[in-house]
Amino acid sequence: MILPFHAGNPSAMTGAGNWTYFLPGRHPVLIDAGVGHTSHLDAIARARSGGPGHVLVSHAHGDHISGVAAIASRWPDTRFSKMPWPERDANHEVHWRFVGDGDVISAGDDELHAIHTPGHAPDHLAFWHPSTRTLFSGDLVVAGTTVVIPGSMGGSLKAYLASLERMLALAPARLLPAHGDPIDRPERLIRQYIEHRRDREHQVIAALASGLRSPDAVVSRIYVGLTAALVPMARESILAHLHKLEEDHVVRREGQEWALY
Ligand SMILES: [Zn+2]
Repeated sequence: MILPFHAGNPSAMTGAGNWTYFLPGRHPVLIDAGVGHTSHLDAIARARSGGPGHVLVSHAHGDHISGVAAIASRWPDTRFSKMPWPERDANHEVHWRFVGDGDVISAGDDELHAIHTPGHAPDHLAFWHPSTRTLFSGDLVVAGTTVVIPGSMGGSLKAYLASLERMLALAPARLLPAHGDPIDRPERLIRQYIEHRRDREHQVIAALASGLRSPDAVVSRIYVGLTAALVPMARESILAHLHKLEEDHVVRREGQEWALY
């Protein structure tokens, strides 16, 4: 059984807010901690008065991790696990157990496999539930939109594309993402994501080929008419592309400017 609990945190950054998933059973597990909203804690309490038991955090972005303090204060015997991202984890003072790629975690009445899927964040884990072929996919994909790869804050587009390929290779029957609706038969959507990044990369190369050299100039060329509030996110995405192209030896960086080889 998999119970979705909403974190109760709609905002400009999180959209409708976050989904967390509870697997009750012999080894209760909650995937993602939410933000400590009372409605979220009460939903957990209704499912299991003793609390979530074990909280697995997909990555250290605030909307996934910041609820750990509230959970720990309500249920002090809760265990907390994630892949390390030391400078971020230190902001959340619970005792962390560290999970790495391939670790098998008792969950519900069977198990989850941790899959390191960096790109959106360096510590990002997805959790594979073999018995239902479900992937708890964190922030890897969101139905109906794309995922921000924060180029200046630990994001890596090259790693993200590899994570998408890794997710495809699992051939999941269903994704349960941290934002938005469940995604059934996700292969098509994942391929669209890969395609979208490839198209965007071609646009970035074309912008550089036309003589543009700064990320801001590339943003204005590609995101025509973007509202001011969204420019910083677009800039992060373009930086992520430039970093990938640099890793691929397609562009070189000269101070704050970028150019094709
Ligand atoms: Zn995130």
